[in-house]
Amino acid sequence: MKKYNLPVILLKGIILLPHNTLKLEFDAKNLDNNVIDMSLLFHDSYILVVSEYKENNTKIGVLSKLENILQLPNGNTRVDLKGIRRVNIIEFLNFKSNDPLESIVSEIEIEKVENEQIIINKLKKELKIYVNNIPYISNGVLSIIDKENSLDKFTDLVVPNIINNKNRLLEYLNNVSPVSRGEMLLKDIYEEKKMFQIERNLDLKVKKEMDETQKQFFLREKMKILKEELGDSSKENDFDKLKKRIDDLDCPIKIKEKLNYELNRYQSCVSMSPELNIIRDYIEWLLCLPWNNYTTDNNDLRQVKKSLNESHFGLKEVKNRIIEYLAVNQMSNNKNGSIICLVGPPGVGKTTLAASIAKAINRNFVQISVGGIRDESEIIGHRRTYIGANPGRIISSMKKAKSNNPLFLIDEVDKMSSDYKGDPSSCLLSILDKEQNKYFSDNYIEEEYDLSNVLFILTANYIENIPEPLKDRLEIINLSGYTEYEKLDIATKYLIPKIISKNGLKKEFISIDSNTILKIIRNYTKEAGVRELERQLDKIFRKIVTQIVLDKIKINKLIINEQNLSKYLGKEKYKYSNKTKEQVGVVNGLAYTPFGGDVLPIEVNYYKGKGNLILTGSLGDVMKESATIALSYLKANYKFYKINYEMFENDIHIHVPEGAIKKDGPSAGIALTLAIFSALTNLKIPSDIAMTGEITLRGHVLEIGGLKEKSLGALRSGIKKIIIPYDNDIIDLPKEVKSNIRFIKVKNFKEVLEVVKHE
Ligand code: ADP
Repeated sequence: MKKYNLPVILLKGIILLPHNTLKLEFDAKNLDNNVIDMSLLFHDSYILVVSEYKENNTKIGVLSKLENILQLPNGNTRVDLKGIRRVNIIEFLNFKSNDPLESIVSEIEIEKVENEQIIINKLKKELKIYVNNIPYISNGVLSIIDKENSLDKFTDLVVPNIINNKNRLLEYLNNVSPVSRGEMLLKDIYEEKKMFQIERNLDLKVKKEMDETQKQFFLREKMKILKEELGDSSKENDFDKLKKRIDDLDCPIKIKEKLNYELNRYQSCVSMSPELNIIRDYIEWLLCLPWNNYTTDNNDLRQVKKSLNESHFGLKEVKNRIIEYLAVNQMSNNKNGSIICLVGPPGVGKTTLAASIAKAINRNFVQISVGGIRDESEIIGHRRTYIGANPGRIISSMKKAKSNNPLFLIDEVDKMSSDYKGDPSSCLLSILDKEQNKYFSDNYIEEEYDLSNVLFILTANYIENIPEPLKDRLEIINLSGYTEYEKLDIATKYLIPKIISKNGLKKEFISIDSNTILKIIRNYTKEAGVRELERQLDKIFRKIVTQIVLDKIKINKLIINEQNLSKYLGKEKYKYSNKTKEQVGVVNGLAYTPFGGDVLPIEVNYYKGKGNLILTGSLGDVMKESATIALSYLKANYKFYKINYEMFENDIHIHVPEGAIKKDGPSAGIALTLAIFSALTNLKIPSDIAMTGEITLRGHVLEIGGLKEKSLGALRSGIKKIIIPYDNDIIDLPKEVKSNIRFIKVKNFKEVLEVVKHE
């Protein structure tokens, strides 16, 4: 292989490939000037150009020729270096001396390329596409290569036009195989094209987004102007206000996202669309709910007790149980699973007590009544797809509560019913369940709402009617009816001062003595609680105020007494005669109704018939069975009781007034039996005697419930003696009841009869 030596020029930062020309200017003082001289003098203008020299690594140089040499006035030399072909560098000479650098090189045999034209054509085709697509590549490169038919030359000419990367250019320089360089080029073209496409897509996307926001901005501004022209900029203003409210709202991120989503829908909705108001209402609901607002609990239970005493008379046991409940709640950090349920007749202070608790522990107070609810959507709302849909009562109350941890009173849980539209009581169960109510979901609101911080309190009139699964979860606290004297205390200490200040009167001006209040209690009300009493007192004071305002009279002192009471309240509504009356076929039973205890007269008649038993007065199944048992017992024991058996061939009619009120339960058993007996045997029964007790087919008298309420009802009605089952206790009955009524315990019906005959 032919070897020869050549002067050397080292290039730094530039790479010269064969067939390309480089313009260089040599410094007059520089050693390189000598290299040029050497080349011109001894090597016929040939010179070796070495790009990016690296010791032990640089193996390939480019045999080049110096052309167009120009001496500049400042002594510098300008030349064109024209690369000719690659050569192998065998060694460098004079590297460490001050003499011009020289090298010994040998020629490289160029490999023969098969299918050269096909490869070139392919490259040309791709290159054309590439150049046409990419704006920053000059298509001058196409004219350079157009007529080129040698792959070796083709690649070297094209590469510097496309590749910028120095290392990649060095790879091209060091690659002596034209075919391999062709492949490299094709790969690079593809790569560049791909990169360009990605960049372009990115550009397009960004541009599109910018265009879109610009467009929206433009349209919005235009719309604003149009609306202002038309005097209708309300929606736009509304949008801005809503946006601000959403930004300021303290709520979970999910809710904020939902609000923004709905706000955009609102924005894009045309003014005439019915959707508009639906979306607007929905946004308003989400904005008004207390997501993260809390009140701070007052944990000082002494103070709580004090304020409960201030608001409610008596109820000592009830208050203690509430304080205990609050203490446990405090210790367990509100995780106490049970829920208080206040059970008692109307007007005994359940609702107001709950409100007082709320005030005392510094929680907001809200209240709903679930009495009569059949459809669970009343509690958990309707889907937004329904026209006129709204959230249910729970969410509506949370909005009113304005805090996330109110005291929430659910009234009348014993009066829910269920039908095909769902079971409100099971729905209520999931609302009360601490495990589930964290994720409470209202159909309308759609998003979860956390109810776990709410303190729920329930109320019911009648424990028996609370759905069983619900009852299981409740901590029942009984509030029984009040005695007359308790009512008197409530009236003097609580109700009258409250009403006087409500009506803007002064305490000193009005005097109403205890006897007058008792008269109101006895003759103008008949109730377990004090609601009606409060209403009557309210009526008196309203009349006084009207009188003062209308007649402009000056009053120094106004006395309300038993004599002038009717001036304010009209005729007495209830009268009690103490005269003992005796009747045949009428017996006083005792009932425990949702309105408290009451006397329940049972009437029996018989007439010629076929021995049928006729029952009227809205009696429930259990009470009907009691009547059948009563009759069977008397039939079976007719000899013992000396009843003429033929009497049973008559039709016997039992009626329990008042007919419209539903009655049930087994506790009228002895009263029913005695009423039948009295009718059939003409036995007179004193009307100041009442009785309660279940009867068996053998005539045994079994224990009953609700004695406290029943005896209070009896006291109100002027009953003097009550026959009760032997197993019932009277220890817990109010003192007033025990001192006014005589309780006589019986084990069986025979003893009932003894009592009636001999008392
Ligand atoms: P309920 O919810 O049991 O039907 P409320 O709480 O509505 O009864 O009470 C009716 C009225 O009676 C209220 O004005 C209440 O202040 C008054 N009240 C009931 N019990 C008491 C009591 N123990 N002390 C003072 N006021 C009472």
